[in-house]
Amino acid sequence: MTQAMHLVLLVEDDPAIRDVLNMLFELNNFRVVIADTCERAIREAQSHRPDLCLVDLGLPDHDGLHFIRQTRLWSPVPIIVLTARTLEAQRLAAFEAGADDYVIKPFSNQELLARVRAILRRVARGNLPDAILLLGAVSVDMGRRVARHEDGRELRLTPLEFRLLECLARHIDSVVTHSQLIKEVWGPRHADTRSLRVYIASLRRKLELKSSRPRFILTEPGLGFRLCSERPRSEGHLLAEDPSLRPPPDDADSPSPRKAVGQPL
Ligand code: CA
Repeated sequence: MTQAMHLVLLVEDDPAIRDVLNMLFELNNFRVVIADTCERAIREAQSHRPDLCLVDLGLPDHDGLHFIRQTRLWSPVPIIVLTARTLEAQRLAAFEAGADDYVIKPFSNQELLARVRAILRRVARGNLPDAILLLGAVSVDMGRRVARHEDGRELRLTPLEFRLLECLARHIDSVVTHSQLIKEVWGPRHADTRSLRVYIASLRRKLELKSSRPRFILTEPGLGFRLCSERPRSEGHLLAEDPSLRPPPDDADSPSPRKAVGQPL
């Protein structure tokens, strides 16, 4: 790796998870600063200026949301939250507080690293979407606003569908909430999730191979949508799955995060 190592602030009070994450990041060429309470995390963020924060929401002193709100007062640093599958409302609150993404416990190391790298790549690009967006057999020239199938067919997107796609592409690989999409595409006074769903369905019909099983425009239940770029199945050096990251009893039957985000509307 030629570039400078990224610094991750790891905010987690569970020592077993913390150790596994610390090792995972170090093996993958990240530097790590650890905080086990919210107050400590706020201090470490200010003194170390991390490139990314990975934040457990259940901390002994305050809710992890407190860390997000405090940090957002002065920094746009990417924040990924670690949450339990069952706490959908908590995830939404984290996004409203300014989180960029989430990973559900128990998470796969591969999934987590992919999310971390996707955000860091986006930050490095300055939040500019790629000029050409590749979605399987479809390529979208974002500047010229032309979408084409690899067989040469032009796929006609309406201006509104383009605005929606642009908004998702600016946050590629991360969640964009319903309210954020509505605000950016329709404007602040048109809060109507029904129109949003109609236009998402229409984009899927045009861009996805099977709109009932989307690969690129994914539903994030209770939150919004995520546009996924294609990426290699495995990235970098990965740790084997750690049994200490198995689900707590109430989550024993939890599906993998991939399944949870891969469902259509
Ligand atoms: Ca915790």
